Amino acid sequence: MAEETVFGKIVSGEIPVDLLAETDRVIAFRDMHPQAPIHFLVIPKSTEYANVVELAAGDPETLAEMVTVAKQLAEEHANGEFRLIFNSGESAGQTVFHVHAHVLAGGLEERSLVGS
Ligand code: AMP
Repeated sequence: MAEETVFGKIVSGEIPVDLLAETDRVIAFRDMHPQAPIHFLVIPKSTEYANVVELAAGDPETLAEMVTVAKQLAEEHANGEFRLIFNSGESAGQTVFHVHAHVLAGGLEERSLVGS
């Protein structure tokens, strides 16, 4: 079980966010520090998985659902094309240890990588 994180508090409603999408297993909302014109986060409601490697091993259906929601959001808010990033581990830039997909779109043509 992962330690409680800011995303756990978003899932429980303790920290309010504007939801862009919600399914039985996942939610999506805007990143508070956008790195691209469109920068959303898609996260599982489960607080069990710290990173995408754990999620892929433990609940691949939810991982697939995160990708589907990312695609739907990219279709609603951009042209359907998007970059999906999972920072996995501190040295890779992960700061919140509740698995999350960064969905980036718009104006990415000149960026080979997105990071802080
Ligand atoms: P990472 O560095 O991959 O762990 O990404 C964590 C992301 O969560 C960062 O891009 C933050 O800007 C974002 N973030 C942290 N807290 C919030 C929040 N309360 N609402 C929206 N985005 C957040």
